[in-house]
Amino acid sequence: MNTTSVIELSQEAVDNNIAFIKNNLGANVKMSSVVKGNAYGHGIEYFVPMAEKAGTDHFSVYSSDEAWQVQSVCSPETDIMIMGYIDEHDRDWVIENGLEFFVFQVETLKEVIERSRKLGKKARIHLELETGMNRTGLNRRQLRQCLPLLREHADHLALKGVCTHYAGAESIANHVRVQKQITKFNRTYKWLLEQGIRPETRHTACSAAAVAYPKTQMDMVRIGILQYGFWPSKETQIHYLHKSKNKINPLMQIIRWRSRIMSLKNVRQGEFISYGTTYMALEKKRIAIVPVGYAHGFSRSLSNQGRVLIKGQRVGVIGMVNMNMLIADVTYLSRVKLGDEVVMIGQQGENKITVSSFGELSDQVNYELLTRLPSRIRRVIKK
Ligand SMILES: *Cc1c(COP(=O)(O)O)cnc(C)c1O
Repeated sequence: MNTTSVIELSQEAVDNNIAFIKNNLGANVKMSSVVKGNAYGHGIEYFVPMAEKAGTDHFSVYSSDEAWQVQSVCSPETDIMIMGYIDEHDRDWVIENGLEFFVFQVETLKEVIERSRKLGKKARIHLELETGMNRTGLNRRQLRQCLPLLREHADHLALKGVCTHYAGAESIANHVRVQKQITKFNRTYKWLLEQGIRPETRHTACSAAAVAYPKTQMDMVRIGILQYGFWPSKETQIHYLHKSKNKINPLMQIIRWRSRIMSLKNVRQGEFISYGTTYMALEKKRIAIVPVGYAHGFSRSLSNQGRVLIKGQRVGVIGMVNMNMLIADVTYLSRVKLGDEVVMIGQQGENKITVSSFGELSDQVNYELLTRLPSRIRRVIKK
């Protein structure tokens, strides 16, 4: 069954972005591909095999249900790491299947040891350290409580890593806080070594940190937004371009989101268009109705603001965005007809709508816009 719009995913862009990221990592730095939020809206089941083709063999997800989705499409050698929530009913499954996961509570460590003893299988854990974000993570006091458990139960645990997450590495406004976090992480890691605890890896960097603070790359980076072809922020992009030789954006958007014109009509001068009175035709208008609305992830805040591409031209979204439809102003386009392609995100002819231009108009960041694209929109993979 077709859906009212289609999301095209470009393998070429995936290859390009992952090669770019790997080229910019230090020697022996591994990349974990972050695919939480349904692979930032791209679709886990589509994106994971594409990223594997591009040479990725480690994926990070938020929760056990996402891990299950990755596992059902990835190769058996691929590693999966859960950074957040594991439902009680999934915990044995996670250990039995050798999935890696973050531990950020002492209670969890005790429970994990119990379960892995019963299952006769080592739990592959990463200790998440609290370094200043004040979200999840073990502080020094809690780590101290973990020490005897880690020492006595080494048979039941594979300490795959220690890690932390920065509180906003994409903005220079957080520079001091991030620097403090780096220092605190390094100090805690050293302390762990002194206590005889030897984690296999250290990983702290997301996309922004890996670009703006290269020393955070350590043994592995957890890259989300960059691999999809988007910068975490304008600042991070400028930071990179400033240092690059050719000043050309090296990333390619993977996603192209398109639909079709389902209805065309003329509206007389002085009439209101769509719900309410937010848009009045100040002249005779020709409008195109497109079967995409906020139920499909086209935010209501793009009412009277958003842009779409038709006939290679950028045209305005007029009136309120409805649940299942939006209205585009095609008054100044010639030869528009029913069934013509409409692009909400991506290239058409010479023009392109980036998710960031979308974001600037709607106050949403790339992350939020992308993850709001419903999984039920049909995805197709392009070469
Ligand atoms: C989402 C997330 C990342 C990836 O962040 P990007 O900015 O998309 O690269 C890395 N680490 C953790 C813990 C995350 O939650």
